[in-house]
Amino acid sequence: MLFDAHCHLQLPKLQPMVRECVEAALRHRVPKMVCNGCCPDDWGRVLQLADEFPHAIYPSIGVHPWWVEESIGGDWRGQLSAHLQQRPRLCIGECGLDKARRGNKSLWDVQQDVLRQHLELASNEQRPVSLHCVQAYGSLLEQLKAHLRPLPFTPGIVLHSFAGPPEMVPDFARLNCYFSFSSLVLHSDKVVRSLQAVPLDRLLIETDSPDQLPQRLTIPLAAEPTQDATFQTVEADGMEGRAPVRYVRSESDGSWVAVNEPCHLGWVCEGVAKCLGRPVDEIRQLTYDNAVRVFDGPWT
Ligand SMILES: [Zn+2]
Repeated sequence: MLFDAHCHLQLPKLQPMVRECVEAALRHRVPKMVCNGCCPDDWGRVLQLADEFPHAIYPSIGVHPWWVEESIGGDWRGQLSAHLQQRPRLCIGECGLDKARRGNKSLWDVQQDVLRQHLELASNEQRPVSLHCVQAYGSLLEQLKAHLRPLPFTPGIVLHSFAGPPEMVPDFARLNCYFSFSSLVLHSDKVVRSLQAVPLDRLLIETDSPDQLPQRLTIPLAAEPTQDATFQTVEADGMEGRAPVRYVRSESDGSWVAVNEPCHLGWVCEGVAKCLGRPVDEIRQLTYDNAVRVFDGPWT
C-alpha cells in the first residue's frame, strides 16, 4: 500500500472528476492521502471531501505563503482554531515560507508572521504541520526552533516536496521533521542528493496533485475532446497496472492540460527506490508506516 503524504484534491482543476480520482487511487493501492487546504476559501471543500471519504482522506488546512496577502485583515487564525477544536484529527498546513514569492519586505514579514501563528497553534493543539519551503530553509529552521514547543515536536513536521540542502537534513531531523518527496526526484539530480541524505525512518512520498505530474505521464490526447466534455482520460502503464491520466481544460486559455492525481504515486515510489538502490516493496512499506506514524498519531 502507498500513502500520499501531500495533495490538493480540493482545487478547481480536480473537481470535475474528484470522485473518480479517489476511486482510481484506491484501485491503485493508494488507500490514504492527505488533502491540504491553502486558504480559508478552500478549507470547507477539504473538510467536505474528508467527511465524504473518511477512511481515505486526511484533512489538513492552513494559509499557504502564496495566499498570505489575501489573509491580511481576516480572522483566519480564529477560524483555523475553531476547526481544530471541532476536529481532533485535523492537521495543520499547507503553510510555510517562499522567497520566490516574497514580494516586498512587508509581505515577507507577513509570511513569517503567518507561519509563526501556525506553529503556535500546532504547539498548543499538538497537531502535525505540513510545510512549503522555497529558498528559505535557513529562515524555516530558525522559526521551527523559536516557535514549536516542545522540541523535538512529537506530532511530526512534514517538509513537503523537499528540495533543501542535504547538509541541513540532520538539523531538521533532530526537530522530528519528515521529508516528503514528489516527482521532482524523478527529474532533478539535486533533489536526488537531498533524498540520499534522509534517514529512512523520516522518508515520505507524495504526488502534490494536481501539480507535478511525472514527465513520462504526459501522454498526448489521441483526439480533441468534444465541446461539452469536462475531462478526458488516457491510460499509462504503471506499477499497479494501467493508470488513468486525465486532461482538463486550462482556466487561462481553454487548452487541455494533463493533471496529476494520487493514483500516480507508484511512479514516485519506484523513482525513490531506484535512487536509493533499494527494493520498491521496502520503500512502499516504510513510507506508508512513516506516514501513518505522522498522520495517525498518537500525537501527545
Ligand atoms: Zn501543496
